[in-house]
Amino acid sequence: MHLFMSGDSIRRRLYFGLWILLMSGGPSSAQAPSSTYQVAPWRDFRQAAISFTFDDNLPNQLAIAVPMFNRFNFKVTLFTVTSPKWVWPANWNGLQKAASEGNEIGSHTINHPNFDTLSDSALRSELLLSQDTISAHIKGQRCITIAYPYCVPGNEAIDAEYYIAARGCSGQIVSKTPFDFMNISSFVCGDQGLNSVDAVETEANKAATSGGWCVYLIHGINFNEPGAYSPVSQDTIFAVLKYLSANPDKFWVAPFGTVARYIKERNSASISEVSAAADSIVVHLEDDLDSAFYDVPLTIRRPLPSGWVSVAVRQNGETMPSQIVKLQGVNYVMFEAVPKMSDITIEKR
Ligand SMILES: [Zn+2]
Repeated sequence: MHLFMSGDSIRRRLYFGLWILLMSGGPSSAQAPSSTYQVAPWRDFRQAAISFTFDDNLPNQLAIAVPMFNRFNFKVTLFTVTSPKWVWPANWNGLQKAASEGNEIGSHTINHPNFDTLSDSALRSELLLSQDTISAHIKGQRCITIAYPYCVPGNEAIDAEYYIAARGCSGQIVSKTPFDFMNISSFVCGDQGLNSVDAVETEANKAATSGGWCVYLIHGINFNEPGAYSPVSQDTIFAVLKYLSANPDKFWVAPFGTVARYIKERNSASISEVSAAADSIVVHLEDDLDSAFYDVPLTIRRPLPSGWVSVAVRQNGETMPSQIVKLQGVNYVMFEAVPKMSDITIEKR
C-alpha cells in the first residue's frame, strides 16, 4: 500500500493494474498525497471573483437591478437598513423573494450611523438587532455579512463577534486571501466613482490579472430616486453584466458572503483519499469551520485515472456538478463538494 502513497502516476497505474489482477474489490486503506488534489482559488478555477453589492434599500434595486441580474443568472448582495424610520424602509416581501432566488440579504445596520460616533453598547445594538431583524424577516439564509455606513468600521473586533465579513469602500481590488475580512474594499459605482462601462470593466479585468476579488458598491439606479447617493444608469450595469457573462472562464460573479465563505473554506480545506478502486475513488473533504453556514461548494480537481473517460461525482446522495477538463495535455476531473458534509465518491462511467 505504500507504493500508492508515492503519488507517482505510473506507479498509480501499476497499482490499479495490480488491483484488477488481484480481483480484490474491497476498499483500499491507502491515501493519495494531498498534492493530487487542488482546490480552486475561485469557483471553477476562474480567474477572479466579482461581487455586486447594493446599499440603502433604494427601490430600483429590487425593481430594476435584481431582475436584470437574474437574466444573467448572477446573484447579488442587498445590504439592508432595518429601521422602519429609514428614508427608504426595507421592502421585506421583495427582499424575501430576492433571497429565495439566491441573492444575499446582509445588514447595513438599523439606523445607518457612523460607527466612530457610537459607544460599544450602541455599536453592539446596531450589529445584533439589525441581524436579528433580518433573520426574523428572511427565511432560508443567515445574515452573516455587513456593510458599514459611510464605510466606517468602528471597532472591528466587536463587528467580528457578529459577522464573518464586512464591506468598506476604499476602492481597491481585494487579494485572493484578504488582509482583513472585517474591512473588504469595494468600488463605488456611479457619479461619485466608476461611472462608465469601461471604468467598471477595467477593475474586473484587474482582478482577473491579479487573481483577486472585485467588489462593486451600488446605491441609486437611474436618476429618478431623489437623495440616492452616486446613481448609475441601468444601461451601464447591463453592459457590464453582458461583458462578464461573455467571459465565463474569467469571472465568477457571486454574492459577497458566498465569496467570503468560499475563501475561508478554501484556505482551511484538507483533502484525503479514503479509498481508490478500479472504478471508484472516495474522498474526504474537511475544514475547521462551522458547517452550519460554511456550506459553499468548493471546486476541486484531480488527475483523471488512466482509462477513465467519463465520471459521476456524488456527495450526500446527490450528484454534484463535475466535468473533465484538459490542461497541458493532462485530463482532470473537476467537481464541486461541500466540506464536512459527507465523503465524496468519484465513479468511473
Ligand atoms: Zn449607506
